[in-house]
Amino acid sequence: MSVVTTPAVLLRSFNYSETSRILRFYTRDHGVVGVMAKGTRSRSARGGTGLETFASGSLTIHFRAGRDLQTLRDFAPARDRRGLATDVLRFAGASVVAELVLEHGVQEAGPEIFDRLEAALDALAEVPRPALPCRLLQEAWGLVALLGYRPEVERCVQCGADPGADLARFDFGAGGIRCGHCAAGATGPRLGPVARQQIRGFTARIAPGHLERPRAHLRLLSDFVTYHVSGGKPLQSFRFLGSMLRGTAEASDEQGEDAAATAEEPTDEPGGRP
Ligand SMILES: [Zn+2]
Repeated sequence: MSVVTTPAVLLRSFNYSETSRILRFYTRDHGVVGVMAKGTRSRSARGGTGLETFASGSLTIHFRAGRDLQTLRDFAPARDRRGLATDVLRFAGASVVAELVLEHGVQEAGPEIFDRLEAALDALAEVPRPALPCRLLQEAWGLVALLGYRPEVERCVQCGADPGADLARFDFGAGGIRCGHCAAGATGPRLGPVARQQIRGFTARIAPGHLERPRAHLRLLSDFVTYHVSGGKPLQSFRFLGSMLRGTAEASDEQGEDAAATAEEPTDEPGGRP
């Protein structure tokens, strides 16, 4: 066993036993690390540990390769990101990028991912609230691409053709679009050229000039992540975020949302059809 100190961001914590908590960090030097923090619950009641979700700082642990939970020695927070904790929509957005990285779960050094994750959390804490869904799409797609999963939205995954001004269908299993000729029987969302270009921009963290259907884009991102990053299991944070966005837009029940879900694909962006 060795004592390891690494830059780290706390992505999730939950209580364990009367006095302890289990913490999940993304660390610059070891990727995702689970940590048992003994005796922190009583201290946390007095607000003294600095172990706030999305805080980043310097983590020191007793580290043994291969075990599920390392032992906390110290966490010295440098940034607490309380702005995320005090606004439930921002918190929901931050939870998406956190869960994305945790589900990917690689336990090896990831300095680029660490820096991108930090930048994403800072951005989500500071972006004007109406722009939050769009910023989340940039940050989350950017992380997905950095983790090695880049959607093919320029050429048909089967024949290689560029659909040009035509609609294409997204094939989640194949991780990309099918042109009209190769889309027989496909059931994924339809994507016009504007939506395809927006997705390409998101993976490079470029903001679109105007985004008409952020929820449809978020749903496509959620489904893509389910297929390619999280092993078939939808991220809970997307569901949470969806309920938040629904709450801000209109009061509707689950049934109404299901109807909206089938009608609202990112296809019909202005200019999406000739
Ligand atoms: Zn094709």
